[in-house]
Amino acid sequence: MKMKTQILKINPQKPEADKIAYAAQVLREGGTVAFPTETVYGLGADALNETAVRKIFEAKGRPADNPLIVHVSSISAVDKLVDEIPEAAKKLMDAYWPGPLTIVMQKKSRVPDVITAGLNTVAVRMPSHPIAYRLIEAAGIPVAAPSANISGKPSPTVGQHVIDDLLGRVDMIIDGGSAQVGLESTVIDVTGEKPLLLRPGGITHTQLKRLLGAVDIDAGVTEKLKENIVPRSPGMKYSHYSPKAEVIVVEGKRKNVIARINRLAQENQKRGLKVGVLAMSDTIALYNADRVLTAGDENRPETVAANLFYCLRAFDAAGVDIIYAQSVADREIGMAIRNRLHKAAGYQIISADG
Ligand code: AMP
Ligand code: MG
Repeated sequence: MKMKTQILKINPQKPEADKIAYAAQVLREGGTVAFPTETVYGLGADALNETAVRKIFEAKGRPADNPLIVHVSSISAVDKLVDEIPEAAKKLMDAYWPGPLTIVMQKKSRVPDVITAGLNTVAVRMPSHPIAYRLIEAAGIPVAAPSANISGKPSPTVGQHVIDDLLGRVDMIIDGGSAQVGLESTVIDVTGEKPLLLRPGGITHTQLKRLLGAVDIDAGVTEKLKENIVPRSPGMKYSHYSPKAEVIVVEGKRKNVIARINRLAQENQKRGLKVGVLAMSDTIALYNADRVLTAGDENRPETVAANLFYCLRAFDAAGVDIIYAQSVADREIGMAIRNRLHKAAGYQIISADG
């Protein structure tokens, strides 16, 4: 694949109307456009145009059985995708749209199978990022958009990541600064009796429970999927968010984690490997390795979320072979950080205690 990719810089605070109109035209004509959202960068195409949607799968090398999220800029656009908006979904939309929340509902037959991977449900989100929102509004069509990375890699949080992955593979890349949350949207399924959290993200389980009462957590959020289980969210079965380097998560008491990581780093350096450590702002000075990066302040987990994928990509750029990552507590957005980190590590998790 070798296409001509236009790169368009757009001001994320005040998107220039003429540039938005130009990019919207590319979408309407069946092209692929990468753009920033408040979660991560997305790669968009007209959701009701099968040929356009196939270009997304081809550009990313995405498996065809991994369904896409459809992005909208109005509730009336949702009515065209689903037969009925359940009460729980209405509450969620009122509270968190536009924002980093995707809702899975029963689909109308006009939603192409290529989007839903043959499922009878469709995942829908209204993004709040000014560029994403205005682009979808100007295009006047629902926009299918997975993360704008080559499948399996960490999701892009700045325009340069998208250029690194997709230049020559898509029609247009909008460079509009940094994504704010830094992790993909929360995905919640409201088609069953009880709402089910399929993917943790910027809107936390606590927030969802406060609004809806009980919300179950799908097993795939916290555990490695068993071989013979058909996942409720097909994307969860694939290896994900992985840099080229091997990732190993180290958990436990702070001082044990630091000691264990330093020992493992030294052992691997002796074997001739280049070692990276993903630290927190208060531990960065305590590690010895070839590359030590801070993901953020552990007491402000949203800073860690915002930097996680950026750091994983930076380790790759530095040519690191193995990354030891200090884990974070399982509260609020910490659930989403742990979910991405564990998947990036292929569930290689070491306990430093005992
Ligand atoms: P990405 O586009 O990379 O953010 O991934 C989209 C995620 O949403 C994947 O994990 C998909 O499996 C999930 N998803 C999309 N559509 C559906 C659906 N209809 N039912 C369940 N999960 C879905
Ligand atoms: Mg993705």
